[in-house]
Amino acid sequence: MDIKGGFSKQLTKINLKTSAFMEENKIDSYIASLQKEIGELKKRMGEMTYTLLKEDRLEASAFSSIMAEIDEREQRIAAESDRKRQLLARNQEILNSVKGPQQNVDFIFCTNCGNKMPRGAKFCTGCGTKLS
Ligand SMILES: [Zn+2]
Repeated sequence: MDIKGGFSKQLTKINLKTSAFMEENKIDSYIASLQKEIGELKKRMGEMTYTLLKEDRLEASAFSSIMAEIDEREQRIAAESDRKRQLLARNQEILNSVKGPQQNVDFIFCTNCGNKMPRGAKFCTGCGTKLS
């Protein structure tokens, strides 16, 4: 592998990590805003409960539209969490596929005998010690 090729692979990785990080942040802040909205809706439910209880006209049906609003946000949160998982998995796949010679530094060492092995190895190929 020539230097230029290795360099461009590194750039691809950096760009990918940056865009993945930004996308991940975007999803995280969207989820956080949805959770905040759910918090506000529940607070409103609490206030409604108090008022209705006080006036002795508390009925579950009073909350159906507010519950639907909460449900809708929870579904969006689940969808966004899914999207984030897919994003992370896809990026890991791409990162694996652009692994170049630089990735040769990606090694671990056996805690027992010091044997050098590729990251991800389950057992030491030297002494058989189980690796975490
Ligand atoms: Zn070992």
